[in-house]
Amino acid sequence: MDLLNTLVDKGLRRELPTREEALAVLATSDDDVLDVVAAAGKVRRHWFGRRVKLNYLVNLKSGLCPEDCSYCSQRLGSTAGILKYTWLKPDEASEAAAAGLAGGAKRVCLVASGRGPTDRDVDRVSDTIKAIKEQNEGVEVCACLGLLSDGQAERLRDAGADAYNHNLNTSEGTYGDITTTHTYADRVDTVQKAHAAGLSACSGLIAGMGESDEDLVDVVYSLRELDPDSVPVNFLIPFEGTPLAKEWNLTPQRCLRILAMVRFVCPDVEVRIAGGREVHLRTLQPLALNLANSIFLGDYLTSEGQAGKADLDMIADAGFEVEGTDQVTLPEHRATAGGGCGSHESAGCGSHEGAGCGGHEAAGCGSHEGGGVCGTAPVAQTAEPRTDLVSVRRRGAGTDLAPNA
Ligand code: SF4
Repeated sequence: MDLLNTLVDKGLRRELPTREEALAVLATSDDDVLDVVAAAGKVRRHWFGRRVKLNYLVNLKSGLCPEDCSYCSQRLGSTAGILKYTWLKPDEASEAAAAGLAGGAKRVCLVASGRGPTDRDVDRVSDTIKAIKEQNEGVEVCACLGLLSDGQAERLRDAGADAYNHNLNTSEGTYGDITTTHTYADRVDTVQKAHAAGLSACSGLIAGMGESDEDLVDVVYSLRELDPDSVPVNFLIPFEGTPLAKEWNLTPQRCLRILAMVRFVCPDVEVRIAGGREVHLRTLQPLALNLANSIFLGDYLTSEGQAGKADLDMIADAGFEVEGTDQVTLPEHRATAGGGCGSHESAGCGSHEGAGCGGHEAAGCGSHEGGGVCGTAPVAQTAEPRTDLVSVRRRGAGTDLAPNA
C-alpha cells in the first residue's frame, strides 16, 4: 500500500504526515490491519528497538473529585463503586511503588484525583517523591496531580520528579462535551508549565468517547505540536455510574489502527498503551506491542488490569524485552534535548502518564469506524459491550491487600 510505505518513510525521518494520511490509517479496513501494524512496527523498532518500558501507577488519592470529566469514575456524581480514600502517606506510597518496581517497572506514576494540587499537596507529594527516590536507585518518578499553578512544576522538579503528566484527552472542538469544569486551554497550559520547568512532559488521549476520526487526528496533531516525550493512549473503560457507561464502540482492530496512527504522527515519542488495554485489545494486546513501546504494569487507578506476571509473559512471548533502568527510553536526539528526563540524572525518561487524572480511566465510544478519507469503508466488527472485563480495583494502594505487580 503506497500510503503505508509513505508513512514508514516519514516516520523514519520524523516528518509529519498529512492529516489526510493520518485519517486514511484510521479508515483502513480490518482486512488490512496486519499490514498497518507491520508498517508502524518498522517505525517503532527504528526508534525503540524491541524494548517495552513498564510503568507503575500509584493512586495517591482516589475519588472525591469536584471535577466532572465524563469518562472518569472519580468524577463528581460518579456512582461507580470505586475505592475512595484521601492522600496516602509517603511511606504507604513508597511501599506501593516498591511492589511495581520489583515487578519490573522503571517508572512510578504518582496520581491524585482533583482539579489540581494546593501548595500543601505539592509538599506532600514532594515528600513522597523523595521517599521513593531514596529507597529505589534509578527510579523515574512522574507526577499527575491535575492543573498546575505557577511555580508548582518547579517545586516538583526540585523534589526530584522527572516528569509530569496531564492529558489533552480529546480534541479542542469536543472538549466541552466531555468536561465543563475546566477547559482544553487549561490543560494545554499545564503541559506547557511542565515543559517550561524542565520536566519531561507526558500528555495523551482517550479514544472511544464518541469522537470522530477527525477529532482523534486533531488531538494527536495538537500533541505533536506540544511535543511531550510520552503519549499515553487510553481506551475508554465505560464504568457503570458514569455518563459514558454505554459507550462501547471500540474493537481490537480499531484500537490497533489508533495506536498506529499515533505512532506515525509521533514516531520518536514514547507511545504508551494505557487504560483499557485489556478491555478493548483483549487477545490482540501482543500485536499492539509492535506499535507502542510502553505499557502500565498491573492495575490502573480505579480498575484492575491483568496480572503483572501475564504482562511479563506477553512481552516475552511476543519477542519483546522489558526495558531496564540502565537503558535510556528515548532516542538520543530527544533524550539529550533539554526538558526531558534526559537532562536529569536518571536514565532516559520518557514520560509517564498515568492513568489518572489525566484520564486514564476511560474508554469510550468510538462510533467512527469508518469515516475517512479514502472511502474505503472498513468492515468493522460490532463492538460488543464487555462489561465482564471491567473490574473495579480492590487491591493495592488504599487497601490491605497486596498490589498486582
Ligand atoms: S480525570 Fe481527574 S479531574 Fe477529571 S474527574 Fe477524574 S480525577 Fe477529577
